Amino acid sequence: MTTAPLATQPLYLSAPDAVTLVRRLGLQHCIAGIAQHIRADFLRWPDFDKSARVANHSPNGVIELMPISDDTAYSFKYVNGHPQNTAIGLPTVMAFGVLADVATGLPTLVSELTLTTALRTAATSALAAQTLARPNSRVMALIGNGAQSEFQAIAFQHLLGIDTLRLFDIDPHATAKLVANLSGSGLTLQVCTSTAEAVQGADIVTTVTADKACATIVTADMLVPGMHINAVGGDCPGKTELAAAVLDRAKVFVEFTPQTRIEGDIQQMPADFAVTELWEVLRGTRTGRDHNDQITVFDSVGFALEDFAALRFMHEAALTLGLGQRLALIPHMADPKNLFGTLLGGAHLAAIEPLECMTA
Ligand code: NAD
Repeated sequence: MTTAPLATQPLYLSAPDAVTLVRRLGLQHCIAGIAQHIRADFLRWPDFDKSARVANHSPNGVIELMPISDDTAYSFKYVNGHPQNTAIGLPTVMAFGVLADVATGLPTLVSELTLTTALRTAATSALAAQTLARPNSRVMALIGNGAQSEFQAIAFQHLLGIDTLRLFDIDPHATAKLVANLSGSGLTLQVCTSTAEAVQGADIVTTVTADKACATIVTADMLVPGMHINAVGGDCPGKTELAAAVLDRAKVFVEFTPQTRIEGDIQQMPADFAVTELWEVLRGTRTGRDHNDQITVFDSVGFALEDFAALRFMHEAALTLGLGQRLALIPHMADPKNLFGTLLGGAHLAAIEPLECMTA
């Protein structure tokens, strides 16, 4: 019987595998490692073939495809955003993705990306805040206490030194869940009754709410000199979190301008509204925060490069830890031109029988 060479089949990393990986390496280690990969890839920004993600909108949400590649590797992510999902027991955001070899097109990894998206979004937020927030920031308001929120909290605690969180969510159960999850974290957790109350005394404000609406979670009257705003939840046309007056008063930083002009909070602003891309600040070609009193906004929408970096981190970690299984995805043919022959039975049929799964 002809068997497909396992090395030519992609590694499959399931959601339980990703949980095992993060538990074995430690959440902080994974967020820090992904942040390092993202920084390294942002520093070689010109190497990438980049495009704004392709979005299919519906009344309840959006499904998006996010491709990117350099000379050697390609990745894409499938991700949705359906804020009403939690009412029917589904996450707002679900994702999976693929890494592939550019030279041959062979997929090398098929991975869950729901958990990994939370890690990479938190890593990107922390990387941006390391670059843009005042270095002595200790207090963060965390508005929206759903699936992403604990990851944001842990990233800011360990990569920035945030020690106090001021929490608000319109759903008190979400805040109670966060408080229970982070009770042993060492963070001081202060539950607030409104966004206006939560932002009082905050050096950094993270908005990570989900609502398919042009919301104004943060308004100009809440701003104080030197504040950094990490705006994560405004990531789709018609889905924003910041009042336009906040953007007018701030220096605004984005990931990939063509995508953020469509999806970010800056969708409210004129097409020539001035923004700086984060990679330019990381490379030192443009300034970040100009002075201590400046208000900075990271208008995060999530860019494919962050998933490329996260997929590579997860792939390397899975291979090191021996996690995941080879996935029988690619038909194997003795004659690669004879795909039809695999339908003819006998030796041809045996060649496309599913492989036995094995630990990588
Ligand atoms: P989630 O549904 O699990 O949590 C969102 C929380 O926001 C809910 O608890 C909800 O009650 C709360 N909320 C809604 N409106 C609010 C308001 N006006 N004030 C305070 N709280 C409010 O969703 P999630 O997975 O945590 O994702 C949060 C947001 O982040 C989504 O909008 C998602 O699309 C976005 N997101 C962005 C990125 C990125 O890279 N920028 C990545 C992942 C998710």
